[in-house]
Amino acid sequence: MSEAPKQAPTQAGRANTKKELPEHLKAYKHVWVVIECEHGVVHPVSFELLGEGRKLADKRGVELAGVIIGSDKDVTAAVANECFEYGADLVYTVTDHALAHYRNEAYTKAMTDLVKTYKPEILLLGATTLGRDLAGSAATTLLTGLTADCTELAIDDEGSLAATRPTFGGSLLCTILTLNYRPQMATVRPRVLSMPTRQSGRRGRIIEHPLGLLEHDIVTKVLQFIADRESNKAQLAYVDIVVAGGLGLRSAENFQLVKALAEVLGAEYGGSRPLVQKGWITSDRQIGQTGRTIRPKLYIAAGISGAIQHRVGVEGADMIVAINTDPNAPIFDFAHLGIVVDAIRLLPALTEAFRKHLSVNRLAG
Ligand SMILES: Cc1cc2nc3c(=O)[nH]c(=O)nc-3n(C[C@H](O)[C@H](O)[C@H](O)COP(=O)(O)OP(=O)(O)OC[C@H]3O[C@@H](n4cnc5c(N)ncnc54)[C@H](O)[C@@H]3O)c2cc1C
Repeated sequence: MSEAPKQAPTQAGRANTKKELPEHLKAYKHVWVVIECEHGVVHPVSFELLGEGRKLADKRGVELAGVIIGSDKDVTAAVANECFEYGADLVYTVTDHALAHYRNEAYTKAMTDLVKTYKPEILLLGATTLGRDLAGSAATTLLTGLTADCTELAIDDEGSLAATRPTFGGSLLCTILTLNYRPQMATVRPRVLSMPTRQSGRRGRIIEHPLGLLEHDIVTKVLQFIADRESNKAQLAYVDIVVAGGLGLRSAENFQLVKALAEVLGAEYGGSRPLVQKGWITSDRQIGQTGRTIRPKLYIAAGISGAIQHRVGVEGADMIVAINTDPNAPIFDFAHLGIVVDAIRLLPALTEAFRKHLSVNRLAG
């Protein structure tokens, strides 16, 4: 067993491209977070972004605002209170019957109308299906810059957002600045940022923004709404324990050992990208840069080498346990606990040990 320090991927150089912000853009102020809310349920990434937005706003000495787009005033008021408790100073709400379900055209209109009226300097969205769709169309409508799938956000004294994201297949991190356009837009994937502490009872201001949308002006119609959390897809991002396997397991049959351990631990199971390509797991269970980002309390990786594209998806885990036959495997550079052993032999023993331990505890409890 070995413990190794965490290492970051290589940071690309930052060009010195500072320029004076054009005069007409100096009116842009404050940090905004778009709150993703389906039927009154807020996507946790919105609160993660409020936590990060709070830090940026404090550094800049400006306010942090949430943006809630929806159709029911009672729901938006309740969600606004949640936003205050996660750090927002104020919340902009746009409520209209036409905004009951996400439709790109209507939400882009609501978003861009708000931005043109109140002029935020920074606009953050979750890199979810909805957030990616809305961010792209809002940025092109507003003719501003958008950095997608950021892993880190920082701000300098002049208010330039330094948005860092992986590039060249994840082997480098590049930092992108939007120097001559406002707002500076960025998306961040769920679980990349940590969840801020909720401050119960914290309150702020609500600004209601009228939009005047007409249903017959919107070309797309929603026939049925199926919430993602109700679908059959695995929800790896927000679970406490994830057990994953890689090519080191050698066969789909051996991968069942990962599933068995996950079942005993009440965990979700996942794997590296080649396993999706081989058809051993579905793509919703792929972990890494082009799969899910996870932040569990415990991550067990069996037969996974720890390539950079895998690493960026798991390094937020509290405890990473790596099982690998190669003592020089890259995963040992960032695992908290490394076990150099054949995973095909160890996994059944672990499953059995946990099964016994947990059933003894259940009986005792
Ligand atoms: C643009 C791009 C995006 C990508 N996105 C992702 C992504 O999101 N997620 C992802 O995972 N990958 C991604 N990849 C692929 C990534 O680069 C690696 O190829 C992949 O992660 C390797 O998977 P692996 O660790 O399962 O296999 P391998 O690299 O083949 O590693 C297998 C490991 O198992 C060990 N081993 C062998 N036998 C045993 C045994 N019996 N017991 C224990 N250990 C054993 C070996 O020592 C080795 O370290 C991406 C690549 C690119 C180019």
